[in-house]
Amino acid sequence: MNSILIAGAGIGGLSAALALAQAGFKVTMCEQALQLGEVGAGLQISPNALKVLQKLGVDEGLSQHAFVPQYATMRNFKTGEYYLKMPLAKSAVARYGASYWHLHRADLHRVLSDACEEIGVELMLNATVSEYRQAVDQVSLVLQDGRELTADLLVGADGIRSIIREQMLGKEKPTFMGQVAWRGVIPVSDLRGISIKPDACVWVGPNRHFVSYYLRGGEYVNFVAVEERSDWQSESWREEGDVQELRRAFADWHPEVSELLQSASSTFLWALNGRDELPSWHQDRVVLLGDACHPMLPFMAQGAAMAIEDAYVLAQSLVKLPLAEALDHYEKMRKPRATSVQKMSKDNAALYHMQGGILGKMKLNAIRMASQYMPSIIQSKLDPVYAHDVTL
Ligand SMILES: Cc1cc2nc3c(=O)[nH]c(=O)nc-3n(C[C@H](O)[C@H](O)[C@H](O)COP(=O)(O)OP(=O)(O)OC[C@H]3O[C@@H](n4cnc5c(N)ncnc54)[C@H](O)[C@@H]3O)c2cc1C
Repeated sequence: MNSILIAGAGIGGLSAALALAQAGFKVTMCEQALQLGEVGAGLQISPNALKVLQKLGVDEGLSQHAFVPQYATMRNFKTGEYYLKMPLAKSAVARYGASYWHLHRADLHRVLSDACEEIGVELMLNATVSEYRQAVDQVSLVLQDGRELTADLLVGADGIRSIIREQMLGKEKPTFMGQVAWRGVIPVSDLRGISIKPDACVWVGPNRHFVSYYLRGGEYVNFVAVEERSDWQSESWREEGDVQELRRAFADWHPEVSELLQSASSTFLWALNGRDELPSWHQDRVVLLGDACHPMLPFMAQGAAMAIEDAYVLAQSLVKLPLAEALDHYEKMRKPRATSVQKMSKDNAALYHMQGGILGKMKLNAIRMASQYMPSIIQSKLDPVYAHDVTL
């Protein structure tokens, strides 16, 4: 086992390429895009993911682009009342063993791709994968332009609409979750007369929620606005949304939200889709990773974090075990965890959108009380996600 092909150079694919190259494998990546890059948006990188990035040696390069939030907060959409105010900053390091960071996707993507290049990963751009073919002792990847590459293992890191997953497990229609997300990044210098708290903030309201946080040391504010809607089903990450429409949807919200949106000049809009847990993540010489095998709603901010964890576990499994056992081990280690985080993300949708009538209200009040008087209750719910360390 020596050579590995990776389909897709997103955050999951690049993390896997780096971890695998550091483990001594010869890695070639095929990416459909003409240029390497990421959408203009932010990512919350929680301690569980940062521990992997530290192990891969890219944390120093990233630290100069990071923003460290003071608190994780959950606030009422109209009054601004706090349901949750949980210290992050130094507390995250003490409790979880690493910081909680906000990063611009493009910064994370660039630092990972630079590290891949430095270690000798071969990156092919404009290389759209159309299918793979398995033989007993090798796997080949067929590109849309007819080129064919062979290796000992193929990693499908080609995202939510993965071609590799489709060939391995058959066509599966995504389930539209009845929600759309708008995203945007606003330079702080464009903010008109409002100040945004230096927190990872979720604003919860009826049938919608809003997330805001700083990026790049406080140079930008990132927002994600989620609305329940049935008329938009595109899964593309690059579709332009209408800023006026977005402003109207959140017009009666707290000024930190509604006035923030007055400063937004553009936004992306896309539909949030879910997929059921897959029966398997690998078959012979092909294995899946990241959104290709466990796409999740963004309500725990863990999709990229799970892909980064996958990458490390896959590389370590392949170092320690023969191929078939390694892939079994990888799936055994990762599937239950990713599935449980997928479920937590789904459950947050109801909480953030104030659903569940009186029970929903009681839940928010219980969170408020626990946050004030017994924060350890809240922390113990998050410990399994953030304190987890796949590098141990
Ligand atoms: C609104 C929103 C906010 C989010 N916030 C967070 C957050 O704060 N923290 C967090 O951890 N996660 C977050 N996520 C989730 C995270 O963005 C994804 O889980 C993560 O980007 C998945 O990475 P990936 O590499 O698996 O897939 P992708 O990023 O989708 O990468 C797949 C790559 O494969 C390429 N590709 C696809 N098909 C082919 C093909 N046929 N041939 C060649 N190349 C191909 C694509 O061009 C792409 O480069 C958020 C998601 C959303 C929607």
